[in-house]
Amino acid sequence: MAVQVQKQKVFEAAEAEETPQTDTVVGWQGIRFQLPPEWNVSAFSMDRDNGSLRVDAPGSSSLTVQLRWMNAAKPQREGPPTAYHYLAPLFRKWLRRPEPAVPKTDLKANIERILKETAKTAKKAKSTFESSLRTEKLEGPDDERTAINFSWTGVGRGQGKIWQCSVCNRIVIAQVVGLSKDQAAISAVASQLFATLHDHTADGFDLWALYDLQIGIPEDFRLEEQKLLSGYLHLTFARGGEKIIVDRWGLANVTRKKFSLADWFANNAFVSLKRLASDEETIYDHDAVHYAGKLSLFARLRLLRDAKTSLRRFPTRYEGGIWECADSNKLYAVQVLHSRKTEGLWDEVTDRCVCH
Ligand SMILES: [Zn+2]
Ligand SMILES: [Zn+2]
Repeated sequence: MAVQVQKQKVFEAAEAEETPQTDTVVGWQGIRFQLPPEWNVSAFSMDRDNGSLRVDAPGSSSLTVQLRWMNAAKPQREGPPTAYHYLAPLFRKWLRRPEPAVPKTDLKANIERILKETAKTAKKAKSTFESSLRTEKLEGPDDERTAINFSWTGVGRGQGKIWQCSVCNRIVIAQVVGLSKDQAAISAVASQLFATLHDHTADGFDLWALYDLQIGIPEDFRLEEQKLLSGYLHLTFARGGEKIIVDRWGLANVTRKKFSLADWFANNAFVSLKRLASDEETIYDHDAVHYAGKLSLFARLRLLRDAKTSLRRFPTRYEGGIWECADSNKLYAVQVLHSRKTEGLWDEVTDRCVCH
């Protein structure tokens, strides 16, 4: 087992240039953006194709950022899916025919309908509601986004944008909402949000970022499980049978107590570490322990029993490691279960974990 050289921070250069470190970085299901310091994700959905996310301002501020997105290439159908819907993609694949082009959504009609409905509700409640739309424009480095900015006032006020991206086929609606008096703050947050927002990745790795965790996961892995507790974060991603498991414990000095790193990891690892090759390495200047080897027959049987585990890319190998970041007082563990065809996954993921 080759000992790793000290890892380089992949994100550091870009981050330092773009914004001060204290800004809140949010990444979820391929969407990422930055907000002022101390904002927190307060609601999210697990679905990648049709999802939502809410991020709240700290303290007593009523400012909040709301996002919804859907995959225009996989429209939500009314009524039960037909056989055509299931079979057509298989035949296209078989005949090597390209997927039909995704039709452009009438963004204006959609946002107008939303605002009209809101106005109606406001009228019923005997309150005022006014909204305005800007003209549709192209945005992004390659003009990949067709976007319309909008704003409204009523009970509170909001400033947002609806767009369709021709690269990832997502339709996203995002807005900053607050009290009527918050106009200046809403504008400031909206300009930071839209200047930093990406709806797809350029390098093939989605940034998953919340509660100070920042980690890059290959975009074809799907979030399978999450546990987001104060003091403990756990995310499991899957691609066929392959898994990436990320754990982070807070207050490392208290949590780990008198356990060594290796003992703590052995107690929390997905598999028994006994027969795996281990070495010590350094991750971002922190001491780390690292294990790699074949998954035992017992572990494979357990995976087979697990109904969720796909036979596609069935994992036969394990790689995992743990480090303590003294700077943030946190413990990070990254484990991967991968098939023989996949190489270097653990390094790719840990290289993209920003611990401090
Ligand atoms: Zn996109
Ligand atoms: Zn660190």
